[in-house]
Amino acid sequence: MGTRDFTIATLGSHSALQILKGAKDEGFPTLAICKKGATRTYQSFPVADEILVLPSFQEFFSIEVDLIRKNAIIIPHGSFVAYLGYQRVQQIKAHYFGNKDVLEWESNRDKERQWLTSAEVQVPKIFKNPDEIDRPVIVKFYGAQGGRGYFITSKKEDFERRIARHLGEQYVIQEYILGVPIYVHYFYSPLTKELEIMSCDIRYESNVDALGRIMARDQATFEKFDPSYVVIGNKPVVLRESLLNMMLEMGEKVVQASKNFTSKGLFGPFSLEGVITPDQHFIVFEISARIVAGTNPYIRGSPYTALRYDEPMSTGRRIAREIRLAIEQDRLQEVLG
Ligand code: AMP
Ligand code: AMP
Repeated sequence: MGTRDFTIATLGSHSALQILKGAKDEGFPTLAICKKGATRTYQSFPVADEILVLPSFQEFFSIEVDLIRKNAIIIPHGSFVAYLGYQRVQQIKAHYFGNKDVLEWESNRDKERQWLTSAEVQVPKIFKNPDEIDRPVIVKFYGAQGGRGYFITSKKEDFERRIARHLGEQYVIQEYILGVPIYVHYFYSPLTKELEIMSCDIRYESNVDALGRIMARDQATFEKFDPSYVVIGNKPVVLRESLLNMMLEMGEKVVQASKNFTSKGLFGPFSLEGVITPDQHFIVFEISARIVAGTNPYIRGSPYTALRYDEPMSTGRRIAREIRLAIEQDRLQEVLG
């Protein structure tokens, strides 16, 4: 069997252009599964050999037999968990790249924290009780799309006044870490057991990233101002070189720790998302156990992949490369979940 006997398929959103382009570069036929009304992008850029249209992503399972017939290998990205939920992703019977079991650990805030702390990764302090608030905190609502409604406070009284608007909603009170929010993109190869840093990004979020353009004095003129963290785009960033050592160590520990709760452990692309403080600690508030859209600026590769590969290597292409090598070595099962 070779690459032409399979089809690389993904949902048409998030990082699909990159995934499909990378798959084509590695010699695979490609398929974009699009929501009705959202095909334009995937027709405009010539990366999908075929486009399947669904009324909504919720109907994903209605085409599963076609996917199995095509020997499709599904590449998950942010939209899979966002639109299908990790439980339904578990039910996918078509070939699926990556370990489905880790999705539950990244989707559940308590399990995610347990994973990170068992890997000795520093995480923000959590305040179980508002009486304990003794520093700036960020109050995050579960399932809040784009961080809508999140607020920052440092006093119990202010917290109680503001939380009153969110009756019945589940939330977490997390220490606010002042520093530079950074997203580090990794790839762990189950074939070679090697960890690679692929790239890093900074998000541009609306409307919080507009605040720096308005003086604090003038911010008060926005009476009903509510900050939100809706991601609009991603900016490339290259880390100070002396930070790479810490990032490599952290990535390795996270992969190692994942083997304690699933037999195959975490593999393929993943991201650590956190804040780097002035004393150069990386405090991690989230882990994504699949490709993140912050890799999109690097379709032609990043400064880090340029050091390792003599060809353009995006994270999407790196996924397809791993699948191609697995097929060639007759080890496909090792990269499927
Ligand atoms: P979308 O298909 O744009 O609705 O995005 C699906 C999920 O991925 C949502 O949870 C988004 O917040 C997230 N997402 C989409 N694009 C990006 C991006 N460029 N950076 C970070 N997250 C993203
Ligand atoms: P999240 O919904 O956890 O992805 O958080 C949305 C955004 O809030 C992130 O992209 C960061 O900019 C910011 N953020 C989240 N947690 C913290 C934290 N503990 N300290 C500082 N900023 C944070």
